[in-house]
Amino acid sequence: MVSQNLTNATSSILRLPPLKLQNMLNLPNLSNLLNLLNLLNLLNLSNLLNLSNFKTFKLLNLSPPPFPYIRRSKNTFSQSLISMKKTRLLLPAALLAGSVAFGQVADSIIVKSIVKEATENSQLKNLAHELLDGIGPRLVGSPQMKQANDWAVAKYNSWGIPARNEKWGEWRGWERGVSHIDMVYPRVKTIEGMQLAWSPSTNGKTITGETIILADVADSTAFQQWLPNVKGKFVMISMCQPTGRPDYNWDEFGTKESIEKMKKERAADQQAWAARMRKTGLNAKNLALALEKAGAAGVVASNWSNGFGVNKIFSANTTKIPTIDIALEDYGLLYRLTESNIKPKISVRTDSKELGMVPTFNTLAEIKGTEKPNEYVMLSAHFDSWDGGTGATDNGTGTIVMMEAMRILKKIYPNPKRTILVGHWGSEEQGLNGSRAFVEDHPEIVANLQALFNQDNGTGRVVNIGGQGFLNSYEYITRWLSKVPADIRSQIETRFPGSPGAGGSDFASFVAAGAPGFSISSTSWSYGNYTWHTNRDTYDKIVFDDVRSNAILAAILVYMACEDPKKTSTEKSVLPPNPRTGEPGRWPAKTSPTRKGGVN
Ligand SMILES: [Zn+2]
Repeated sequence: MVSQNLTNATSSILRLPPLKLQNMLNLPNLSNLLNLLNLLNLLNLSNLLNLSNFKTFKLLNLSPPPFPYIRRSKNTFSQSLISMKKTRLLLPAALLAGSVAFGQVADSIIVKSIVKEATENSQLKNLAHELLDGIGPRLVGSPQMKQANDWAVAKYNSWGIPARNEKWGEWRGWERGVSHIDMVYPRVKTIEGMQLAWSPSTNGKTITGETIILADVADSTAFQQWLPNVKGKFVMISMCQPTGRPDYNWDEFGTKESIEKMKKERAADQQAWAARMRKTGLNAKNLALALEKAGAAGVVASNWSNGFGVNKIFSANTTKIPTIDIALEDYGLLYRLTESNIKPKISVRTDSKELGMVPTFNTLAEIKGTEKPNEYVMLSAHFDSWDGGTGATDNGTGTIVMMEAMRILKKIYPNPKRTILVGHWGSEEQGLNGSRAFVEDHPEIVANLQALFNQDNGTGRVVNIGGQGFLNSYEYITRWLSKVPADIRSQIETRFPGSPGAGGSDFASFVAAGAPGFSISSTSWSYGNYTWHTNRDTYDKIVFDDVRSNAILAAILVYMACEDPKKTSTEKSVLPPNPRTGEPGRWPAKTSPTRKGGVN
């Protein structure tokens, strides 16, 4: 609606032959004017502009320019400026007085409008609710991942932003079903746990069996001799944690002596368990397969994440029997009962479905550039997740930051100088596959990338931006950041030229190709222990104030990168030598994606 009016208005202006408006105004660029007109329309400033004093600027909370206002008669503009119906129209002289002043006023108005829209009309909670509560986790190859791709396209379209799903590969399709685990002997207790991703189902049955702890044997030969003992049993393959209290809790309440003792005992337990695993002669994958082959009923693990109530939930290695993860408390209970020869029994039902190979997609949305449509400013966040929780902070928050920034930009800055493109990547969790595929499939975009901003480390406000080894990144990133409101900017530490990220998230796919991809990196909010890949990565962990601040930051950085008169430099810095080998530092190598995943 808004952009429709704007387009009409602008084309009318440009059709007026006697005016030659663009020359007369000495405009820095057309997109700036288009966007400003859009804003005037949006803010309904036609009334304000009739004021013959500085009120306009005061109302916008801007410093008035050091020029007198000039007047234009109704006849000059009336056909063109649809929203400005008053008899006299006064434009701030800055609009007419040359590029620098014009640019500054435009920047200021647009930045303030971005903040206002993000603050007064935030869509973040709706987006989070629809995506995380409505659709849920987004494991690559799951129907929920495809549902999320389709949801994002529809959402962008509803904002008037063209979007598409772009196929980059295929993956083993799997859909999580019911996980139901109970201890049924020596008493009944429902166990907190779930099957791991891609775990086989129990084929519609409930399987009951005794538990057995992976034996501590002398060597791989002894292990093979022990293996028949697992037949019909659930094999416990994780260490029993000596404490379910996280370290910060010990530090708060423990005595120095008891803390030291606990840490020493725990370290010894960990060493002993690692040795036990090693002596089987098998790696994790082959151990699972050996247990399966020997007739085990299932594999039971507990991947505690060093916090109250948190386990990391990754994928299963078994191909026929279920692999389940059990919460620390229940795992400890079963372990101790098994160790003291009580012979506890559990019953397990897992109902997942195998769906064969399914196509996998990136979701892309685009606001076309008006002056340099073949140069790109990108927003970036992976869309997939692990599926123990709902992938709220990994990477639901990065996802909604980029969606909200796009929505705001479309409203406030719908005629960017360069093209704005957002990438919601598939299968980051298995090795940056979606973004690596995009880099491989779109060399023309990568070669003309002005900048890419990726966010993928939780819900926190951005506190770090590095130059990723690009020698001149200091010059443009600090200039762009200078327009970010102080309360957001003052939180951010910058490092230049920094070093090129070799992995960690999708910006690295672009950096490896020599393209200016940057990570806007968040404060932790206990991300590593409590939400990253855990069963507790859910809506309630989102800190919406911080996420909103990130959406504002992303939108302003995109605006500044789009409007920058210069293409960014991608000159690489000389990397420091490897301190271990003394060899010269090397730029990370470009890696091809896995295009056919989840198959052996
Ligand atoms: Zn992530």
